[in-house]
Amino acid sequence: MTELVHARPDTPRAALVTVGDELLLGDTVDGNAAWLGRALAELGLRVVHRTTVGDDPAAIRAALQDEAARADVVLVTGGLGPTEDDRTREALAQAAGVALRTDPEIVAALEERYRARGYERLPPTNLRQAEVPEGARALANAYGTAPGLALEVGEALLVALPGVPREMRGLFEDHVRPLLASRFEGRLTPVHVRRVHTTGIPESVLAERVEAALEGLEAAIRAAVEVAYLPDLRGVDLRLTARGARKQAEAALEAVEEALADVVAPYRFDDPEGDLAGALGERLRARGLRLATAESCTGGLVGRHITDVPGSSTWYAGGVIAYANRAKTVLLGVPEQLIEAHGAVSEPVARAMAEGALRTLETDVAVAVTGVAGPGGGTPAKPVGTVWLAVADRWGGGDARLERFAGDREAVRERAAQAALKAVYDHVAPA
Ligand code: ATP
Ligand code: MG
Repeated sequence: MTELVHARPDTPRAALVTVGDELLLGDTVDGNAAWLGRALAELGLRVVHRTTVGDDPAAIRAALQDEAARADVVLVTGGLGPTEDDRTREALAQAAGVALRTDPEIVAALEERYRARGYERLPPTNLRQAEVPEGARALANAYGTAPGLALEVGEALLVALPGVPREMRGLFEDHVRPLLASRFEGRLTPVHVRRVHTTGIPESVLAERVEAALEGLEAAIRAAVEVAYLPDLRGVDLRLTARGARKQAEAALEAVEEALADVVAPYRFDDPEGDLAGALGERLRARGLRLATAESCTGGLVGRHITDVPGSSTWYAGGVIAYANRAKTVLLGVPEQLIEAHGAVSEPVARAMAEGALRTLETDVAVAVTGVAGPGGGTPAKPVGTVWLAVADRWGGGDARLERFAGDREAVRERAAQAALKAVYDHVAPA
């Protein structure tokens, strides 16, 4: 079954060219290349190379020709706009050795678009977007003005897409995916992927336990599935990949995921976007519960992650940033004596903060975070990274736990925020 991991030898090769001075200068992160790399790999092509160039027609042309020599399909993004610095169109024509001509159908579509928006006429600069290299096909853009372009150069297919990520993705789905699927029919080796999201366990510890759990598996299955660890401050994602026929690949993935189940269970959360706040929201929404937060060391980070989720107003009431002791007392009703007796970073104070938020905001459940984010403020008993988390619910239930996070201030705060979300996620788990 090891053949599953190897792509067929005639797997089509893809290359990427991303265009823009802003990419070279680091003002924009090259999200298009990342997105396309993943989309092409999952479609079953082999991405063999990528190049980033500035808004310079000679450099774009050279990159296109280089990539066309090594790949069966070259995708280029950016530089299709109407302004002077948008040079991909002419570079494409030069690479193919053809002239640009104005396409009357595109002109008509652009005029229509501008009329519909209340403009009397098309700004002359926009006519550039109607220029098409001889022999190229325009790919209609339902998301913006610049159409994409598809053109044969030698053996390779060159496809140009707009730089705006939303438009690029839209055109890929509308035109490029079907185009590649039919052009390379029978030669694609789709990649089958599963993602397991975890938080609250370091990558090295997770990897050790996962590898141990996989040792029991049949060698063929183990060889068919590649396990990758993708860590960031929020947690570690496990990416399981298998190539080949869907049925066999899915069976191998299933076996691996099953073998891992016990190891990842305490840390796992399920969300299509890999977002813990989204996963939590789904649970709260399904059970009709509303949440409140009380944050000290995270300064609103928990609330920030929650309100990043569209529609979170249905399950999130709000929160209190109770940083100084007085805020904990006045806004959350934490007794002053409690803080004096145990310190602000302590189990009783964390519990009282959660209960205070529950009362004040009249929710079903509340979570509190109080800790030492550093770099100062640590003591031998409570070093930097010490964080108390508490959950309280309106039925008298609750939970508190002590965490000791590694890392600098940013890492401690991010890890504490994730741990707070995870604590509620676990607390409201379906029975
Ligand atoms: P427009 O019609 O808007 O000019 P365009 O095809 O000319 O589109 P660019 O001008 O290169 O594209 O980029 C438009 C926007 O998309 C810019 O905000 C740019 O930062 C962003 N962008 C361009 N390329 C990428 C990329 N590779 N990854 C992420 N964002 C990108
Ligand atoms: Mg532009």
